[in-house]
Amino acid sequence: MCGIFGIYGHPEASNITYLGLHALQHRGQESAGIVSGDGQSLYARREMGLVQDVFGARELEELAGNSAIGHVRYSTAGVSQTKNAQPLTMQYAGGKVAVAHNGNLVNAQSLRARLEAEGAIFAGDSDTEVIVHLMARSRVRKLEDQIIEALGQVVGAYSLIFETPGKVIGVRDPYGFRPLVLGRLRDAYVLASETTALDLVEAEYVREIEPGEMVVIDSGGLRSSKPFQAVRPARCVFEYVYFAKPDSVLFGSSVYETRKALGRQLAKEQPARADLVIAVPDSGVPAAIGFSQVSGIPYDVGLIRSHYVGRTFIEPQQSIRHFGVKLKLSAVREVLRGKRVVVVDDSIVRGTTSRKIVKMIKAAGASEVHLRISSPATRWPCYYGIDTPVRQDLIAATHSTDEIATYVTADSLGYLSVEGLAQAVGDPGWKSYCNACFTGNYLTPLEAPQAASAQG
Ligand code: AMP
Repeated sequence: MCGIFGIYGHPEASNITYLGLHALQHRGQESAGIVSGDGQSLYARREMGLVQDVFGARELEELAGNSAIGHVRYSTAGVSQTKNAQPLTMQYAGGKVAVAHNGNLVNAQSLRARLEAEGAIFAGDSDTEVIVHLMARSRVRKLEDQIIEALGQVVGAYSLIFETPGKVIGVRDPYGFRPLVLGRLRDAYVLASETTALDLVEAEYVREIEPGEMVVIDSGGLRSSKPFQAVRPARCVFEYVYFAKPDSVLFGSSVYETRKALGRQLAKEQPARADLVIAVPDSGVPAAIGFSQVSGIPYDVGLIRSHYVGRTFIEPQQSIRHFGVKLKLSAVREVLRGKRVVVVDDSIVRGTTSRKIVKMIKAAGASEVHLRISSPATRWPCYYGIDTPVRQDLIAATHSTDEIATYVTADSLGYLSVEGLAQAVGDPGWKSYCNACFTGNYLTPLEAPQAASAQG
């Protein structure tokens, strides 16, 4: 999971991109990068760290030109590596190109093996490099055609922004797994993962880039085409559940309102006798408000989130590892003491966070804790850009709801149903969303390694 941003036709392109990346920081905290273009050349800076750590006034001044693209990379477990920081830049027969990618390719491994067998040398291990190698090998001349030819060979999730010294190109895969929107800032065009970035730079929201659409933006304006074979759209429903920022308009609907609707539906499906409803901040807040509205149980603030611990927090040595959740969240005793509490969170992945939270709320004096989850049980890994673990590490893949309730020490546990989720996102027949993490219904072909881990 990552955040991408691009702008063409603005004298302060890199400054605007810097602001846009700030608004998308929730989509990735591992590394940040900006590449600008001035018609002659491209100028790049990318480093490990948050946007504010990577860029200062001096760094931004060096990124000259009226176009720029940027990227924030999602922090996955394990070693973070600068060689995978984006946007990637490369020089090949076609000239200089930079690319920023949000998504994950299902067939990257086999394409990579084929390219390596043919002599390609990879600098990092990101999927994005596979796309670049495929472009470099293309025999067609125009960049747009090279991109189309390369993407015709890949399967999976990609929202991409390419940049040459005089052009910015946005592409969304035919399934539309990951979001990408178009905005206007006076004479400039803006592309961004989420509308929250348009709002921050005061750009006007124009529309979504449609699944399978390519837009080319240069001195001639904007040209749109649909070069790929149409498939059934598969927008990621987990973007609504957890990933996107609540103030964004995603896939045409408000994330905040959708999350509240998830909470309202949850209250209908999984009622509880309780004195108050609290959220696990920040991700559980809108759903908890929705739950409170329907159940009539008052909403209160029982957990406080520290603003100084990000997801970049590196777990320290074993002896103090269990402080992780405590560093991020603290319980308000005066609110919780003696109360039967409904706790609303967006999802349970491994179950370790929920267990710590329930224990914390009980230690603060709550008499009962009823955990309510505003999405169905996460039972299947995602191969389309969200970093869910292998199947064995997903607690709901191997345990019943009762067993999970016992593990997290909750008095009761209730998930939203798959049907309830479909209703809340306004797609009752599951015609345009991907719900594979909840159902195992993968809409693209899977390659052997993924198929094995989905079974595993
Ligand atoms: P756990 O069950 O301990 O793995 O943690 C689940 C919590 O992590 C959820 O309540 C979410 O707020 C958050 N979460 C869910 N999916 C992800 C993800 N792919 N990456 C990071 N955090 C996530």
